[in-house]
Order: sequence, then structure tokens, then C-alpha cells
Amino acid sequence: MKIVAAKKLLKANDRLAAENRKKLSAAGVVCVNIVGSPGAGKTTLLEALFAALGGRARPAVIEGDIAGAIDAERIERLGVPVVQINTDGACHLDAGMIAAALADLDLEAVDLLFIENVGNLVCTAGFDLGEQLRVVVLSTVEGDDKAVKYPAIFQGSDALVITKADLLRHTNFDPARITADYLRLAPDGRVFQVCATTGDGIPPVVQWLGGDRHET
Ligand code: MG
Ligand code: ZN
Repeated sequence: MKIVAAKKLLKANDRLAAENRKKLSAAGVVCVNIVGSPGAGKTTLLEALFAALGGRARPAVIEGDIAGAIDAERIERLGVPVVQINTDGACHLDAGMIAAALADLDLEAVDLLFIENVGNLVCTAGFDLGEQLRVVVLSTVEGDDKAVKYPAIFQGSDALVITKADLLRHTNFDPARITADYLRLAPDGRVFQVCATTGDGIPPVVQWLGGDRHET
């Protein structure tokens, strides 16, 4: 019997992630790993970001899902290049999957590459994909206690995007509480509050992602 320790697998993942990172930066691509629960609004956030980018930066998307291509179809409708990864049951993306997906993208034609991870606040935290930025998406209906309950995914992330801000008045979600908890875990992290369906709060996110920097 051969037993492969989880530690060894993670080491292999880190090696592949480093290769992805090298390839992306050589092509001048900023890569953003979008993580969050199912239904947090990750795809809707992407749609809003692309509408606000207005052609200033050339985006592309790698969609991670256990099954299906519903989100990829939404992205495709916007004319944004997209590669769908189906994990066949795996609850997170790993660097090897991203390496395969990168081969299907023309990186020279991309400025901003978004990886929409499988909806999951737990084990997505353990897998570096080779991204430059990790963004946690948390909706107001999920509760303001998630940073305390799922610290690993927030720890070391670069931004927290609070979505569904329009529903705040229907919940007891306290943005100040999650912000304080988040900044304890990610002192350099940025916090944004948005309503992606109306576009409220989206421009500062675009600016932070460097959408303005790519203006030609
Ligand atoms: Mg989605
Ligand atoms: Zn997993």
C-alpha cells in the first residue's frame, strides 16, 4: 500500500503554483483568486466588475465548479474569454488544474485573470493557485461571524468584498464587526462593500484591481 501524506501533496501544489505565478507575471497578467461560499455572489461580482472596467483592462476568467458551466456561460455572454474547470466532486481548485487551464488561454491578450474558485470557505484556503491576489467574497445574508468561524480563508487574503449590501436592512449583519474581525486576520487587507446587481460600490474595487492602470 502506498500512502501519500497530505503535506507532500501540498508541497507539490506549491511547486505548481510557483510555476503558474512565474508564467502569469512573465505575461504581465494580474491574477485574482476569488473565494467564497456558494451563493455569495462571486459570478455576479465578476459581471459587475467587467461592466465597470469598460474595456480599460482585458479580463479573462477561469471558472471552477464541481459540475456544469452555468457561470462560464454567464461570463461568455459578456464576451470575456473563459475556461471552465469541472472538478468532478473536488471541493476546491488546485494549482495543477490552473496550469492546465492556463494552456487554453492567450495570456498575451489578458491583463486581469480572475479565478472563480469552487464555492467553499474551508479547503480553498489551503491551495495556492499562483495568484497575486486573493479576494474573499462574503454576502450580508451569510452572517458577520464568518471571519471568526473560518479564519484560514480570510488570513493573508488581500481584500474582503461584502456583497448584497442592498439586503443589509433585512439582516442583523454588522459590517463594522466583520471588518474588525477581518483586519485582525489580514491587517493589510482592503474591505469593500458592494451591491453588484446595481453596481454600487464597484468602482473602488476596479480601481484597487488596477483597472485604471491599464487604461490605454
Ligand atoms: Mg459563481
Ligand atoms: Zn476541497
